[in-house]
Amino acid sequence: QAKKLGRGRYVLFEKEMEDTLRISREIEEDIKRALNANEFQNYYQPIMDHTGNNILAAEALIRWNHPKKGLLPPAAFLPVAEESMLINRIGEWVLENAIKDGSSLDGVTMCVNISPSQLRHPEFPELVSKLLDKYQLEPSQLELEVTEDVLINYSETVVEVIERLRKLGVKIALDDFGTGFSSLSYLRRDLFDKIKVDRSFIKGAVTDAKAKEILSSTISLGLRLGMEVCVEGVEDKEQKDLLLSMDCPMMQGYLFSRPIPLGKFRLWREDMSEDHDQKPRKIRVGA
Ligand code: C2E
Ligand code: MG
Ligand code: MG
Ligand code: MG
Repeated sequence: QAKKLGRGRYVLFEKEMEDTLRISREIEEDIKRALNANEFQNYYQPIMDHTGNNILAAEALIRWNHPKKGLLPPAAFLPVAEESMLINRIGEWVLENAIKDGSSLDGVTMCVNISPSQLRHPEFPELVSKLLDKYQLEPSQLELEVTEDVLINYSETVVEVIERLRKLGVKIALDDFGTGFSSLSYLRRDLFDKIKVDRSFIKGAVTDAKAKEILSSTISLGLRLGMEVCVEGVEDKEQKDLLLSMDCPMMQGYLFSRPIPLGKFRLWREDMSEDHDQKPRKIRVGA
């Protein structure tokens, strides 16, 4: 009886595996179609200075305008893309469009998320250099965001690729800082120009004394190691004021803006600088 049941479970498990694989393959095929049909779109989220009043940078965040499923967030398709080599094609698409858009946004650094598999390619720095040339963007206006998993089982290739990118003048940021297994040990390698403190750190920091201490220590740690520091996930004014009191140089979050398409980003930026100059606000139709 037990044996029978065991085998039954095994068959069930096998079926689930097959279903998962089939769904993954369907999404892969759909991604290939979408690349040709130009269904992907970069959204941009502003990164603000220490006052929260000036835009320093924009982070490119991919979206998929799916004809049947609507607007899809990266979590709905990047994991499948990561398992196949499609992440490299998507990554190149994002990078090219972000560099192109970045060259049209004067004085805004363009930040692009890069997947581990892209950094494993020794030719990646040449691709970046070629795209910067093509769209006439200064290397210092480009920042590539990587997470700790690029360094798990890190190979010398990845370290070399990062070093070559930095030699070009491109900046490298360590994204989601503090969520990995050995965030602190990676900092000793001196590979990063910036840390992006994960949004879990600002959560609760306004009311919880320990969370506040951890947040402010993390900001000073980055600064004392000579890096730029940005805190992600700022959603309300109390959090912004807290960061102001901690001399945090950069912040990003829904309080300022959600990720938005390029056209909206431009208008938002114009409005922002008008507010700042205290000029009368123009009325924008359909913005
Ligand atoms: P990330 O790089 O850490 O990006 C920040 C994520 O937090 C974005 O989610 C953004 O919309 C969200 N976010 C920003 N401000 C707030 C806030 O105040 N509150 C909350 N709750 N969330 C906020 P999104 O766009 O869904 O992207 C998720 C992740 O997908 C990104 O995390 C990044 O790891 C990855 N990703 C996005 N675009 C790309 C891409 O082009 N290439 C690669 N390789 N990964 C990407
Ligand atoms: Mg990022
Ligand atoms: Mg992040
Ligand atoms: Mg993330």
